[in-house]
Amino acid sequence: MKKIAVFPGSFDPITIGHEAIVRRALSLFDEIIVAVGANALKKSFYPLAVRKEMIKKVFQNEPRVRVDHYEGLTVDYCKKSSASYLLRGLRTAADFEFERAIAQVNKAMASEIETVFLLTSPEHSPINSTIVRDIIRSGGDASLFVPTSIDLNEYKGEED
Ligand code: ADP
Repeated sequence: MKKIAVFPGSFDPITIGHEAIVRRALSLFDEIIVAVGANALKKSFYPLAVRKEMIKKVFQNEPRVRVDHYEGLTVDYCKKSSASYLLRGLRTAADFEFERAIAQVNKAMASEIETVFLLTSPEHSPINSTIVRDIIRSGGDASLFVPTSIDLNEYKGEED
């Protein structure tokens, strides 16, 4: 059976930390679905379509990575996509505590789905989408923190 993993997140925007986790996980899974959680109540900086477009660009030469979005429970999306694995990245002890609760609750809801964690590379541990958005909002250059294939000047974020 094909090993399919879902990598869920906001990806607002995708960073080099996210990219590295997906590329490393390609040695573990046959297919990875980068799934953007579409939360109608949570306002994002980049619209859903833009976030998906950026991720597609990053993995355009990687046929084993698919980009999609979903609403509702992540485990329901996994079942719908025939994915038996949930992929998450861990940066810090705070990430661990947060992720532990989510993974344990997901396991209680859907015991057939395993969450797999990859520890971030040390150079990526301080990088998160919130900081990247703050740099962009303040007129700084965030290109160091986003994948090289993305030109942030091509996209316009929404102020909140
Ligand atoms: P969420 O909205 O769920 O916080 P994110 O888009 O921030 O989603 O992140 C999705 C996943 O990527 C999470 O598992 C998160 O821990 C991981 N991640 C985010 N930034 C990094 C990074 N710099 N290095 C490794 N993993 C990361």
